[in-house]
Amino acid sequence: MTDHYAVFGNPIAHSKSPLIHASFARQTGQDLDYTALLAPLDGFVACVTAFRAGGGAGANVTVPFKEQAHALATVRSTRAEAAGAVNTLHFKGAEIYGDNTDGAGLVNDLTRNLGVDPKGRRILLMGAGGAARGVVQPLLECRPAILFIANRTPARAVELATRFRHAGPVHGGGYDALAGSAFDIVINATAASLAGELPPLPEGIFADGALAYDMMYGRDTPFLQLARQAGARTTDGLGMLVEQAAEAFFLWRGVRPDTAPVIALLRAG
Ligand code: NDP
Repeated sequence: MTDHYAVFGNPIAHSKSPLIHASFARQTGQDLDYTALLAPLDGFVACVTAFRAGGGAGANVTVPFKEQAHALATVRSTRAEAAGAVNTLHFKGAEIYGDNTDGAGLVNDLTRNLGVDPKGRRILLMGAGGAARGVVQPLLECRPAILFIANRTPARAVELATRFRHAGPVHGGGYDALAGSAFDIVINATAASLAGELPPLPEGIFADGALAYDMMYGRDTPFLQLARQAGARTTDGLGMLVEQAAEAFFLWRGVRPDTAPVIALLRAG
């Protein structure tokens, strides 16, 4: 019997998740279908409830519903609890299990696809929104030398860092606090790229051999252009997208798909 999955978001038409999960299913011989469903801004819970009542087995959740998905889950993973956001739901009998696979997606992309081990590295994470919140704990679990969270609204970065202080060497502040510092891994988790904008990074922010990682994908952003000019290695967030999907697929199906051919397929398309 075919199992049904979906991704809920608003907007959702652009989502690559159906293609990714269809590729995973083909590759692993799993009998499932996966569709993108637009939930009204005030109707997320009703949409998920109807999907579940209709036989849905699980769902992904994207902007702007990850906090609502966190509230909807009756049981949450430690990483979802730490992030305060859920991007993967698994319907198991009476329970709704909530997980957050974004952080694992980023770390797997760094370590498996890009060959970058965050251990002992100086990491700058820009942004303090949903995407940033999901990756702080998984990055700290890699034991970096330091994780600095910089945000346009500094208080949000300070608050986020304070929340994870027990988990490792994490600090937060505004972009002006970065003057004179250099980082080995610079991650853009802001929405600035969506608007073609660039966070106010001071000169010299990229250490020799640094990796610049923009979570945004499918476009050459001002951040990636700046990083290239500064001699840094650059990548977009497509690998993270596929890796977070693989982690969700594993949660649902107990099978780990090979992500490399799917990343290649999306890059080619
Ligand atoms: P949010 O709206 O939750 O957070 C936005 C963040 O960006 C805030 O910290 C905000 O700062 C900051 N920001 C917005 N505009 C600017 C600007 N012009 N200059 C500097 N900072 C700015 O968004 P998300 O966290 O959900 O998403 C962020 C990005 O990550 C998006 O591009 C999204 O597509 C991407 N993403 C990619 C994923 C992947 O798998 N590759 C997964 C999840 C997200 P302030 O607090 O001051 O408002």
